Amino acid sequence: MPFNQPPPSLGNQYTDDRVLRSHLRRALPAQVLAEVESELEALGGQAGGELYRFQLADRLNEPVHTMWDAWGQRIDRIEVSPLWQRAERIASEQGLVATAYESRHGRYSRIHQFALVHLFTPATDVYSCPLAMTDGAARALVASGNKALIARAVPHLTSRDPAQFWTSGQWMTESTGGSDVGLSETVAKKDGDRWRLHGRKWFTSAATSQMALTLARPEGNAAGGKGLALFYVETRNAAGSLDRILVHRLKDKLGTRKVPTAELTLDGTPAWAVAGDSEGVRNIAPMLNVTRTWNSVSAVSYMRRGLALARDYARKRVAFGAPLAHKPLHADTLAGLQAEYEAGFQLAFLAVELLGRDESDGLDDASRELLRLVTPVAKLTTGRQSVQVLSEIVESFGGAGYVEDTGIPALLRDAQVFSIWEGTTNVLALDALRALQSGKALSALQVEVETLASAVRDTRLLDPAKAAQAALLHAQQWLGAAKGADVEAGARRFALTLGRGYALMLLCRQAQWCLDHEKDERPLFAAQRFAGNGVDLVGVEDVAAAARLANDD
Ligand SMILES: Cc1cc2nc3c(=O)[nH]c(=O)nc-3n(C[C@H](O)[C@H](O)[C@H](O)COP(=O)(O)OP(=O)(O)OC[C@H]3O[C@@H](n4cnc5c(N)ncnc54)[C@H](O)[C@@H]3O)c2cc1C
Repeated sequence: MPFNQPPPSLGNQYTDDRVLRSHLRRALPAQVLAEVESELEALGGQAGGELYRFQLADRLNEPVHTMWDAWGQRIDRIEVSPLWQRAERIASEQGLVATAYESRHGRYSRIHQFALVHLFTPATDVYSCPLAMTDGAARALVASGNKALIARAVPHLTSRDPAQFWTSGQWMTESTGGSDVGLSETVAKKDGDRWRLHGRKWFTSAATSQMALTLARPEGNAAGGKGLALFYVETRNAAGSLDRILVHRLKDKLGTRKVPTAELTLDGTPAWAVAGDSEGVRNIAPMLNVTRTWNSVSAVSYMRRGLALARDYARKRVAFGAPLAHKPLHADTLAGLQAEYEAGFQLAFLAVELLGRDESDGLDDASRELLRLVTPVAKLTTGRQSVQVLSEIVESFGGAGYVEDTGIPALLRDAQVFSIWEGTTNVLALDALRALQSGKALSALQVEVETLASAVRDTRLLDPAKAAQAALLHAQQWLGAAKGADVEAGARRFALTLGRGYALMLLCRQAQWCLDHEKDERPLFAAQRFAGNGVDLVGVEDVAAAARLANDD
C-alpha cells in the first residue's frame, strides 16, 4: 500500500478554542456566559463538523450569473453556491445579525454576537461579507433616525426567520475610486418624493441582496464627499425583477470566490434619501464602523482556522522520525503564529466590547474617542496579520498547503481581502490620524494603557508590558515631532505600532487574568512571544528617500 498523507481534521471550534473561551470567561458575567454557551457550542460543532465537510465538498462551486433567459429577456439572475445557501439559513436562524439588535444581554450583546461571527466566518467561506453589510445597514438606518426606512427595512435585516431575512449591499466603490469615494460619478435625480440613480458601481458584493445603501450625488451638488448623499435602494420591484439595475458581470477574483461581487449599472434605479441630500460619507460612517469590526473579527477567525488545521496536521505528519509537532523548530513557527492570533483577538474584541457599550449604556467622551481610534486600527492591524499568518500556515503544510483540494490555499486567498476591502491598510492609517486630530483619543489610549500596565503583576509579564508601553510612547513621540509630508509617509508604521502595541498590552491583561483565575500560562507565553515578534514599527522615515526608492529614480 502506498503511504497516504493524513488529512487535518477539526474538532468543535468553540470547545477547542482556548482563546475565545477564556476571553468570554473574563469579559462576560458568569450568568450571561451560561446563557449563551450552548449556542456557541452548537455552532462550534457545526463549524468543525458538518460545515467543514460541506466546505470541502462545495469547493469548486461558485456563484453563477445568468444574464439572459432562453427567450431573450435580460434577467441577471445570480445563484450562490449550496454552501452559501445553507449559510444564509444558519445566519438568520442563529441570529448572526439579530443578536446585536435583540440586545438580550445589553452591553454584552455585541460580544455574544461576535463570538458567533468568529465561529461562523471561516466555516462559510466568508458569508460574513453580506452579513457585515446587513448589520452595518441596520446600524446606519437606526443612526439616521429615518423612521419610515427603519420601519421598512430593519425588521428584515434583523430577522431570525429565513423567509423574512434580508441582506444588504454597500455600494460605494466606483471605477473612479474606492478609497477616494468623493470622486463618485453616480448622479441622483429627483423624481417626486423619491430619487432615481444613474451611474456605475464597480465592486458590489452581496449582489443577491434585497436592498443596499449607496452613495450618489444629487444633481447640482458640489463635487467631493460632502456633495454625496446616502440612498436606500430596494433591488427588486414588485414583480421580483431587478429594478433598473443591470449586472454586467461577476468579478473573477483572487479569493472570496463564493462572494458574488458584481459590476452594476444603476439605470434610473428608484432610491430614497436616508438622511438629507448631502453629507452621505458622514451618514454612511456608522455602517463602516460596523463592517470594519466584522472585518477585524473575521481576520482573526481565519488565523484561528488556519492554526486549528495546522496544529492537527503537525500532530499527524511524521518527518525525520517524529510528528512535526515534536520538532522544536516547527513548534516554534506555530507558536509565533499563535501569538499573533492571541494578540489580534484581544484587539478585535476590544473594538467589539466598545461598540457594544456604545450602543447600550453609551460611552463617555474618552471611551468614544477610543472607539473611533480603535475601529480602524484594529481593522488594519488584524488585516495585515491574517495575510502573514495564513501565508505561514500554507507553508506549514509543505506541498499539501499549495494544493487546492486540501482546501488550504483558499484560506490565504480569502485572507488577502481583509486588508483591502472596508479600507486598505494605508487608507485606514490615514483615518487613524484623523481620529487623533482632537488630541483626546491619544490621551484616552494613554490612560487605558497605564491602567492596564498597572494591573500586570506577574514578573514574567513586566517585560512584554514595558515593550508595549515603549512602542506606544515611541509612536506618540514620533507623531509629536513629525511634520508635513513625514506624518503622511509614516502613518502606516505609526498606526501598526499603535495596533500591535495596544494588542500586546491587552494580551498582558488577559495573561494576568488567566494566571490568576485559570492557572494557565499559555497567554503569558503568547505575550512574551508577540513582544518578540515586534511591536514597534515606527522606524525612521525619510520621505525624500522613500519617494526615490518607490519610483526607483
Ligand atoms: C472582493 C472585494 C469585494 C468588494 N466589495 C465591495 C462592496 O461590496 N462595496 C464596495 O463599495 N466596495 C467593495 N470593494 C471595493 C473595496 O472597498 C475597494 O477596492 C477598496 O476600498 C480600495 O479602493 P480602490 O480599489 O479604489 O483602490 P485605490 O483607492 O485605488 O487604492 C490603491 C492603492 O493605493 C493606496 N492608497 C489609496 N489612497 C492612498 C493615500 N491617500 N495614501 C496612501 N496610499 C493610498 C491604497 O492603500 C492601495 O494600496 C470590494 C473589493 C474587493 C477586493
